[in-house]
This record gives sequence, structure tokens and C-alpha cells, in this order.
Amino acid sequence: MRVEMELDEIIFGSTRDIEVNTAILCETCNGSCCAPGTSPATCDICRGSGQIQRAVRSLLGNVMTSSPCGTCRGYGTVIPHPCPTCQGQGRVRAARTISVDIPAGVDTGLRLQMPSQGEVGPAGGPQGDLYLEIKVRHHDTFSRNGDDLLATLEIQMTDAILGTTATLKTLDGEVVLDIKPGIQSAEVLTVKDRGITRLRGGGRGDLKIGVQVVTPTKLNHKEQNLIKELAKSQRAVSPHLSHFQQGLFAKLRDRFMNV
Ligand SMILES: [Zn+2]
Ligand SMILES: [Zn+2]
Repeated sequence: MRVEMELDEIIFGSTRDIEVNTAILCETCNGSCCAPGTSPATCDICRGSGQIQRAVRSLLGNVMTSSPCGTCRGYGTVIPHPCPTCQGQGRVRAARTISVDIPAGVDTGLRLQMPSQGEVGPAGGPQGDLYLEIKVRHHDTFSRNGDDLLATLEIQMTDAILGTTATLKTLDGEVVLDIKPGIQSAEVLTVKDRGITRLRGGGRGDLKIGVQVVTPTKLNHKEQNLIKELAKSQRAVSPHLSHFQQGLFAKLRDRFMNV
């Protein structure tokens, strides 16, 4: 079965009630397949051996071959009075709800094995296992790289110049981030231990925040003049070429991987 999880459920793990529909042991016959008060009988056709022997003529003379008995399907016994509840299958289908502890740090594609939570075998056979395949849903703000959480923080040009303090809503509470004056686009700020709890132990990953400085597009007359004043007072650095970069997000991705 597939279990869909939200990213915030993965940080610390969660408990899920999951409805499963499997074969369970028939309580009327307790898996014997026989109606109450009756029992299996020896198969008349194969006399209990489960095999049919046949002589086949060949160039080498008569050869004996054996094949499973079609009447008892090789069991050697037949059910003269099948259990009415399970029609002689020894099991019935039923829905039940199981509580599953999903550990922190699981990722899409991971399979959890739940021993003996699968289908009961025919005629009271052993119970199989249930496998749960995890799918982590897309989150609008946060994405994941291993045990780290990634997000982009847009900050106004003026905040980038002067510095500011940002209070960020993360998936597990608030983080206060100090933004130093002069921060550049594509800088990555790391908040230690605010990522996902590691599946195999060893604390949590980090929260990595890529900075994107937003250039104002709508300035009134007064603001334009202020910026022009600023431009005049700055030592003039003309636009100049440097190595080509595949846009901010590729740049961010590279830095996320290397921080
Ligand atoms: Zn039954
Ligand atoms: Zn038979």
C-alpha cells in the first residue's frame, strides 16, 4: 500500500491509522475450510496420495507418469461440506485499521515492512507481510535534499543593503534569522539542526535558506530621486562581464550542494 505523507510529518515521524483490506482467518471454521462438525475426507480419485499415476506407452515400453490429482488439487483430501462462511477457503476478506509508527526521516520510495499484517494464506496458511511504500507530498515552500530542508528567502533591496532581522515560519516553529548588511543574492544561510531527523539516527539535518534580493520595480518620483542620489554618491562601477551562470536557482542549487 502507498502512504502519502506531508513534509512536516517526516521531521519527527508520525503515527498513522491505516485501513487495510486483506484476507483474515475464517472464524467459523478456524481455517479448516469445513462446515462446523464435519472434517475433510480422503480423496476417492487418488486415494489420498494427491497424485494420479498413468502408464504411457513409449518406444522404451510403458512409462509411468504422475501428475497432481485434479479432484483434490494434490491435497489428497477433499472437503465434503465446505464452510458456509468462507465457501471452503478458510479465509474471508475484511477491512481493519492498524496503527503504524512511521519513523522520522523516511523518503519517497522507502518501503516499511509490517510483519504478519498481510493476507492470511488459504486453508489457515501463514499470514504474509504488509509493505507500506512512502510517498512524500510536494510542499509549496520547503523542499528536501537528503536530511536538509531548502527554501528561498526573498528580501527587499533596502533590507539587503541595511541588514534586517527576519522571523521565519518553518515546519516546526519560528526561526529568527539575522540578515547582515550587504547580503547578496544566492547567498545561503544555514540554520543548524532545523532539517529532518535522520532516519538512521544522529540528530537532524539543517535548514538552508537561499537569499534572493528583490529589485524594486515600482518607485514613485521621490524614491527614484533618492536612488539617483545614492547612485551618484557611490563610486561608479560599470556593469561588467564575468563567467556565465545558469540563473539564480541553478546557482543556489550548486551552493546548497556545497555548503
Ligand atoms: Zn470458514
Ligand atoms: Zn485426489
